[in-house]
Amino acid sequence: MLNSESYLQSKSQFLLIAGPCALESQEQLENFIKSAQSINTIRAGIFKMRTNPESFQGLGEYGLNIINNLKEKSSFQFITEITDPRQIESLDPVVDAYQVGSRNMYNYDLLKELNKLGKPVLFKRAFSATVSEWLNACGYMPDLGEHKIILCERGIRTFETSTRNTLDINSVIYLKQNHNFKVFIDPSHASGIRSMVRPLCHVGLASGADGLLIESHPSPECALSDKNQQITPTELNQIRSELIAMAPLFGKEII
Ligand code: PEP
Ligand code: MN
Repeated sequence: MLNSESYLQSKSQFLLIAGPCALESQEQLENFIKSAQSINTIRAGIFKMRTNPESFQGLGEYGLNIINNLKEKSSFQFITEITDPRQIESLDPVVDAYQVGSRNMYNYDLLKELNKLGKPVLFKRAFSATVSEWLNACGYMPDLGEHKIILCERGIRTFETSTRNTLDINSVIYLKQNHNFKVFIDPSHASGIRSMVRPLCHVGLASGADGLLIESHPSPECALSDKNQQITPTELNQIRSELIAMAPLFGKEII
């Protein structure tokens, strides 16, 4: 679980956070939970930051009722992206941790508000931010600090266009060698290509990261957002088994 002292203080636990890009219905997330039972920290977008304003924007407040219903039936921690400080009142009773998306890395007013809440923040790197800009932005959440800010490398914008983004694996290794933040990798947005997610998960474990954020949808081909990069829960379970087998080589334990 992301929001637990045993994970936040551990140097060896490697956490898999997964779920659909966007929460679309109760049935969708129920299906995901049933088929990916080993995932204890679920991420699904409720307020989506879409580049195209015509694209699906998420279920909004209504989605929070779905999470409350599902939390009564099964036990999991829930993390979702917050896009505006005005969402705190409705999100805070439901979420265990917050995601700050790439488009909001520079939203310092949002960061200052999250700093007051005390819950872990999965803090994605902006498309074109340097590591130093990313670390500077962490300075707006001083009370969370290295203990509760989890940096998430989700691919950066480069001259390369064959993949959606370019996974900056250097940044992960650099951060782990020079700082005490936990560092996650998001192989889904980093590549944008479903078949690349599995090998990037392997690379992520080998890089010394502390976990992965993986987009997984019960029927990826019908997803309302990011359908090309979401994997099925069956593929997710397969990747998890492979990571469990690899983990001892890297001094990690998959949770
Ligand atoms: C997401 O996690 O679904 C998302 C929108 O990611 P990013 O902020 O990395 O683009
Ligand atoms: Mn997505």
